[in-house]
Amino acid sequence: MATPQESEFAGRLPATLPQAIGWAAQQSALVIQSGTPLDSRGLKIARAVGVKHPELIRVWTVIELPAPSDPELRRFAAEQNLIAPGTRGFTLGYGILIRQGDMDVRLLSHESRHVYQVEEAGSLDAFLTAYLKQIADVGYDRAPCEVDARHHEIDTLPEVKSSRFATAVER
Ligand SMILES: [Zn+2]
Repeated sequence: MATPQESEFAGRLPATLPQAIGWAAQQSALVIQSGTPLDSRGLKIARAVGVKHPELIRVWTVIELPAPSDPELRRFAAEQNLIAPGTRGFTLGYGILIRQGDMDVRLLSHESRHVYQVEEAGSLDAFLTAYLKQIADVGYDRAPCEVDARHHEIDTLPEVKSSRFATAVER
């Protein structure tokens, strides 16, 4: 059962989707341009959760996660828990944004699984269209893409001894 808020989201989704896709594409390009490639440990984690081209991933550590400047889109993201105060990171195509100090194996494996999902969908547009529809239908926690990403989270790889994955991370 969708909550009233979720139903309302479903109704507003068609009008918001192009804006959301536009914002995501812009942010993704920025992260890919400014982020850091995964090191060998990060690459192993991404491969372990199924990413076909982990070498294309860029990680950008930020003090504050970006939110859309458009007020409606920003409200949307906050209401649906996509970009909320507790959000530690999110993934836009091959661009992974991580809040400073929050990088760990579990988070990187979760976000990398979203990269895998984008690869499977064929494009960021196709992924977002399906992903936001899922959130509109069943909510963030039960969205199949989120369930799948949580299911593929890993805590450690045998070879991983350090908590640093990208050279430009933190401090
Ligand atoms: Zn997720």
